[in-house]
Amino acid sequence: MNVQTDISPADDQAILDAISKWLERKVAPVAAQLERDDAYPEELVQDMRELGLFGAMIAPEYGGLGLSATTYTRIIALISEEWMSLTGVINSHLMMALIVQRYGTEAQKTYWLPRFATGELRGGLGLTEPDAGTDLQAVRTVAKRVGENYVVNGGKMWITNCIQGHVLALLVKTDVNAQPRHHGMTMLIVPKFNVETGAPLAGVKVGRKLSKLGYRGVDTGEIAFEDYECPADLCLVGGEEGRGFYMATGGLELGRINIAARGVGIARRALREAVAYSQQRKTMGKLICEHQAIQLKLGEMAAKTKAAELLVEHAARAFDTGVRVDMEAGMAKWFASETALEVATEAMRIFGGNGYSTEYPIERLYRDAPLLCIGEGTNEMQRIIIARQLIARSKA
Ligand SMILES: Cc1cc2nc3c(=O)[nH]c(=O)nc-3n(C[C@H](O)[C@H](O)[C@H](O)COP(=O)(O)OP(=O)(O)OC[C@H]3O[C@@H](n4cnc5c(N)ncnc54)[C@H](O)[C@@H]3O)c2cc1C
Repeated sequence: MNVQTDISPADDQAILDAISKWLERKVAPVAAQLERDDAYPEELVQDMRELGLFGAMIAPEYGGLGLSATTYTRIIALISEEWMSLTGVINSHLMMALIVQRYGTEAQKTYWLPRFATGELRGGLGLTEPDAGTDLQAVRTVAKRVGENYVVNGGKMWITNCIQGHVLALLVKTDVNAQPRHHGMTMLIVPKFNVETGAPLAGVKVGRKLSKLGYRGVDTGEIAFEDYECPADLCLVGGEEGRGFYMATGGLELGRINIAARGVGIARRALREAVAYSQQRKTMGKLICEHQAIQLKLGEMAAKTKAAELLVEHAARAFDTGVRVDMEAGMAKWFASETALEVATEAMRIFGGNGYSTEYPIERLYRDAPLLCIGEGTNEMQRIIIARQLIARSKA
């Protein structure tokens, strides 16, 4: 199921305009310092709640904005032009929320989605473990049904929002002997505290916040479960074991389009900064934008940035029609993330020594970009996914 909405294009534009103003007034003045300090952007997260962003793609009947993926990816690109880390706070949260919206029971939707939509409960997606990243089916966290509850044991790593957030969509094994392995995988919604009373729940322990090259400010960390209990009726997504892998990969489809949108934001900003700098900096008595060597770079950067933008738009529009879009999402993710990395690197070269300085925005874009080639399925895997889809769709 995909969300579509009674919000008109005019409303969508009003939302984009409000976000642009917020980025200019509130985010631009503080982003560099927060990033340098690796400080969680509390105030900006509150602003994002007020803007409705935690409910961006949650259906209006559950209190969300019900935006299309097309509009949502435009928002993500816009925010990433200013500070990509902020998109991590909402993206991972919405992937969790959309798993409930797509696959949850009606009771689960009614319970979780309104709380997710306001940002009262925020969270993310808990898939990765120390020995299970690309190979998700190697997950070792187990959940055992005991009466009306599940008892969870295991540990997750590299989980965005697991420290500041309140709840995770957690991929677990409910049958460790199942073959194929994914038939034994299940998705649970696990809060860190009692949602009704706010009291902490036993058996969940948040570990260290990981220190990262870029994408700083937003928390990415470790979380462990030891005899942690949650009620099956609220937590077992869809009320059925064995569908967790399917739900995770379904969620990653939109995740990949969002990663691609971040790439568009990074590339656009790097290009804009590079053009502006090249029109100010002089060498050999000329502005550097008049040197052909720089023009060759700018031409290529601009063409690739536009191509990335179009691939993202194409994938988001396809997603909005409700069909599976592994190939379109994979193409957008691979191309836009590689473009972000390339354009940020070229921008750094155009800036010369100043590109390497923390006083200019380029070094941050350069540090943020590589994550996009790794997260939500590495780019090595994306090309394999694209090829497999291509072959499958070409069969008579
Ligand atoms: C900042 C950050 C935030 C993250 N946030 C989250 C999050 O919120 N939730 C979450 O669950 N995870 C998160 N992750 C984890 C991320 O999804 C994984 O790092 C990613 O899936 C890769 O897994 P891995 O690190 O185990 O690499 P590995 O799986 O060990 O891969 C290592 C290399 O081998 C290649 N490779 C592996 N298998 C194959 C194959 N079959 N064919 C070809 N090449 C292959 C990979 O492409 C890669 O180049 C985050 C990671 C980072 C860095």
